[in-house]
Amino acid sequence: MSSTSPEASQPDKPSHFIREIILEDLRTNRFGGRVHTRFPPEPNGYLHIGHAKSICLNFGLAAEFGGKCNLRFDDTNPCKEEVEYVESIIEDVRWLGFDWEDRLYYASDYFEQLYQWAIQLIKAGKAYVCDLSPEEIRQYRGTLTEPGRNSPWRDRSVEENLDLFQRMRAGEFPDGSRTLRAKIDMASPNLNLRDPVMYRILHATHHRTGDKWCIYPTYDFAHGQCDSIEGITHSICTLEFEDHRPLYDWYLDQLGIYHPRQIEFDRLNLTYTVLSKRKLLTLVQKGYVRGWDDPRMPTLSGLRRRGYTPEGIRTFCSRIGVSKTNGIVELSFLEHCIREDLNKRAPRVMAVLRPLRVVIDNYPEGQTEELDAVNNPEDPSMGTRKVPFSRVLYIEREDFREDPPKHYYRLAPGREVRLRYAYFIRCTGVVKDPATGEVVELHCSYDPATRGGNAPDGRKVKSTIHWVSAAHAIPAEVRLYDNLFLKPNPADESEGKDFTEYLNPESLVVLEDCKLEPSLQTAQPGDRFQFERLGYFCVDPDTAPGRLVFNRTVQLRDTLAKIEKAGKENG
Ligand code: ATP
Ligand code: MG
Repeated sequence: MSSTSPEASQPDKPSHFIREIILEDLRTNRFGGRVHTRFPPEPNGYLHIGHAKSICLNFGLAAEFGGKCNLRFDDTNPCKEEVEYVESIIEDVRWLGFDWEDRLYYASDYFEQLYQWAIQLIKAGKAYVCDLSPEEIRQYRGTLTEPGRNSPWRDRSVEENLDLFQRMRAGEFPDGSRTLRAKIDMASPNLNLRDPVMYRILHATHHRTGDKWCIYPTYDFAHGQCDSIEGITHSICTLEFEDHRPLYDWYLDQLGIYHPRQIEFDRLNLTYTVLSKRKLLTLVQKGYVRGWDDPRMPTLSGLRRRGYTPEGIRTFCSRIGVSKTNGIVELSFLEHCIREDLNKRAPRVMAVLRPLRVVIDNYPEGQTEELDAVNNPEDPSMGTRKVPFSRVLYIEREDFREDPPKHYYRLAPGREVRLRYAYFIRCTGVVKDPATGEVVELHCSYDPATRGGNAPDGRKVKSTIHWVSAAHAIPAEVRLYDNLFLKPNPADESEGKDFTEYLNPESLVVLEDCKLEPSLQTAQPGDRFQFERLGYFCVDPDTAPGRLVFNRTVQLRDTLAKIEKAGKENG
């Protein structure tokens, strides 16, 4: 795999080879000027960020060229598919911002047509019923270097094949006892053309067709024909289907039906992440995460719960572009796109995650002031709000050091700092727990002349810290997330370990005793904020009356470096 750094090399809307192909087809009028794509998920899991790439590509290109994009469920495998997945997929594609209008389809809608096409191929001597077991079929198939061998059932008469296939449909035979296979070429260098299975017997209840069928088409027998039925012009899929294209073409040619143009692109891989539905299902089923929508999951429902925006995800998908070689994109690039979007839209508020009590000894007891705070310096139209200030405050524990190291400019004994939107304070005393020696409270004095954060005598401080008034603070639980995996490529099992062995034990840290400014009292699940100096946070659906729960969406970049730089500029 090659490593790509899209941030450095790609502008917002780079052109790419798929767009060029479509432009060329429009120039040559190959499809009568039509552009019609589809997104074809199999409903056997929740959608993830890799699917978002495919969704943005298919719906995006259709929109760009005034065309259409269908949503189609490739539901040919009743064993692994569930209604829950169908519903989550519909919700996630909508949330990403795309619309299939009235074009929601299911491969299962076409089961009867596919069956008729199978009959047509049998009648043409191009398909046969085979009695080999799945294991025998594998043995007969040969390898990349050795040709396969013909099935002993390959030369059954058309009449016998028709009879047996109809009886397969009628339910006369047990699972796995027979298949319908295409009669192509057991010596083809392309293994997909070595008499591939078209139908298998499966006495299983399908989420849409119930018990109507006990034979099901394979994905390969269904996919190309579904695209053909829907009049898809550009059938965009991932690179692993390149070798299947000759088979799809063979079916369409033999049946004499309309041919879409298939174009393959690279799958998205992300560092510190797994994007295989099988692996994601393992994480859910074995309880490594709290569910498909756990904010650590790369699923769209997880990212949504985490606070990621559809706009940020779409920008990411556009910037990574498409290519013909699989690579791996830095997770930090996705975070960068989300941060960039939230920076524009998220209101700023003050929140203290690990509170340390501060008493301002010279501030009048019982007094409260309402100070003006800016909601978003990036967007003056978002206005200002009032933040209450009083004698007892909370500040962040890490904003005080009894013994400050070099280049630590925040609060320390005897030192003066600015409280954001408020006053200069100076630390005059430290109270410790006599048993543990832990600092439990600070005493400070404030300078009333510095209201709003500037000293009339021009005196400077090297740092500005955030705070919350203790009497007005709202308690909250805040969940901090880190990468789910410790290894950049956890899916690489070359060390002989299972991917779950690379799980990060500290991917979730729960802080139960956080203090928020009172404006957050009315925050609703899904609302997003920047907690000043700490990052972007989103209200979790676990929030209930009297219990606010936040997820950290993404950290601010280089928080410490930035603050210290600002501190130096101030000083
Ligand atoms: P998995 O291998 O994890 O089961 P899949 O490709 O089988 O995934 P589908 O539901 O068939 O999952 O995918 C629907 C569409 O999304 C397909 O067109 C597929 O190519 C595309 N897709 C899936 N994963 C990615 C990815 N990581 N990057 C880009 N496109 C993807
Ligand atoms: Mg698939």
